Amino acid sequence: RAAAHQTEGAAPVDVLRRVFGYDAFRGDQADIVDTLVRGDDALVLMPTGGGKSLCYQVPALVRRGVGVVVSPLIALMQDQVDALSALGVRAGFLNSTQAPHERRAVEQAVLTGELDLLYLAPERLRVPSMLDLLSAAHDGPGISLFAIDEAHCVAQWGHDFRPDYLGLSVLHERWPDVPRVALTATATSATRAEIAERLELTTARHFVASFDRPNIQYRIVPKDNPRAQLLDLLRTEHAGDAGIVYCLSRASVEQTAQHLTAQGIPALPYHAGLDASVRAENQSRFLREDGLVMVATIAFGMGIDKPDVRFVAHLDLPKSVEGYYQETGRAGRDGQPSTAWLAYGLADVVQQRRMIDTSEGDAAHKRQLSAHLDAMLALCETVGCRRQRLLAYFGQESEPCGNCDTCLQPPETWDGTVPAQKLLSTVVRLEREHGQHFGAGHVIDILRGKETPRVTQLGHTALSTFGIGDDLSDGEWRGVVRQLLAQGLLSVDARGYSTLELTAGSAEILSGAREVPMRREAPRPARSRRSAGS
Ligand code: ADP
Ligand code: ZN
Repeated sequence: RAAAHQTEGAAPVDVLRRVFGYDAFRGDQADIVDTLVRGDDALVLMPTGGGKSLCYQVPALVRRGVGVVVSPLIALMQDQVDALSALGVRAGFLNSTQAPHERRAVEQAVLTGELDLLYLAPERLRVPSMLDLLSAAHDGPGISLFAIDEAHCVAQWGHDFRPDYLGLSVLHERWPDVPRVALTATATSATRAEIAERLELTTARHFVASFDRPNIQYRIVPKDNPRAQLLDLLRTEHAGDAGIVYCLSRASVEQTAQHLTAQGIPALPYHAGLDASVRAENQSRFLREDGLVMVATIAFGMGIDKPDVRFVAHLDLPKSVEGYYQETGRAGRDGQPSTAWLAYGLADVVQQRRMIDTSEGDAAHKRQLSAHLDAMLALCETVGCRRQRLLAYFGQESEPCGNCDTCLQPPETWDGTVPAQKLLSTVVRLEREHGQHFGAGHVIDILRGKETPRVTQLGHTALSTFGIGDDLSDGEWRGVVRQLLAQGLLSVDARGYSTLELTAGSAEILSGAREVPMRREAPRPARSRRSAGS
């Protein structure tokens, strides 16, 4: 630990230059650092890649004592500590993966004031001896600050909720004189308020950076043959590029990775079902080697800092706009043009609704999950600028961007009222005349007049709506169902059978009181528009 710098009491910008080798602070960094150096609290909202780490690392070095960083990303602590050590910063971590002797060495360094930064997993703070250690540090060499990373994990209904984060108010209660900074890349204004409340950051200054990532081109396409669509995207626009492909299930991660590899595109799988050693190996290969595609569940990516990820592709619908933003935000951290591509279809909506309906948790929780999904669906179905919609979700106003699919090729809309009426009245008739609900596939078969064994057997050829929808293809009908679902004009059964049911809004359409504008969908999306962003 001989490499320690003399940084206590130094000017922050000198520390930035001498220790980290950067010329100047970016954006709000200087202000945030000053706030903490002064001893005040801060709440920092900065998109991924914005430079949150320096916001606490620099003041931790300038102030007396050890800076305590609470982070849920145990897997990354070793890397963070190694990177800091390479810069001559004395850093250590305490988490459950350590051997007792390693832990003791770090604890000793804390007590003797030989540590500048200490990374802690949140669950450590439930251990009384840990709190005793911090007390001894506080009364001895000092605690320079508390940094609470990934602070949105404290939000109860957020998608990354960690119960241990609720206990973090202990930091303020026990050591009120130590300044605190909470940092996150994901928070709507509601989540921000929740963070401030639960962490008792009542007097904290809020720093909210722009969420715009202008070099990312957002595209959302109707899913028809997702693997072929993905392959097409990779071959025509991203040959040889590094990228991430997100899938919902472990099985589809494995299959997609195999499929890409078989097609000559080097791809690695990553999901929680793989051995920790395989995960670590795949992750480090992805970071180290050029042009690898990581096919992963959302277990992959938090805290990953690879600057040249050229595309992030979603083969399944994310559960929330926040998740979508965070995952797509891993593209283009070097500022170069990058693609965020999502294929989404009717089955996604049905599946996600079912997952919500069958999930654990009370009605309020389900309503919250539904609201998250609705916002995501609205982003998928919008005929306006995707970026504008995305930024609006984070409370930021903007103009149409010119670098998303809807800006580059404004979707045509068509009057879907009549098809919507045909579809809804089929659902009504099935309910009235047969006392039952059916799934989208069957309803579409009836509309298109297909005499499938099931249709015939159930006597559905006798329905007055049988065959009245032959003017649209199966795909078009599925688009109609999807858009009605997204607009809340139709719903999927809550007991988990994926059958279609009416909503309060359906009646207005059936009575002709309301029109239903719909997006016209090209069978294949436009492509090769990467140059438009540069
Ligand atoms: P975040 O945690 O917000 O995702 P990081 O703290 O990991 O972002 O920073 C992202 C990248 O930007 C890192 O490679 C970091 O070294 C770099 N960076 C941050 N601040 C500056 C700065 N002031 N000057 C130059 N590079 C910076
Ligand atoms: Zn746009």
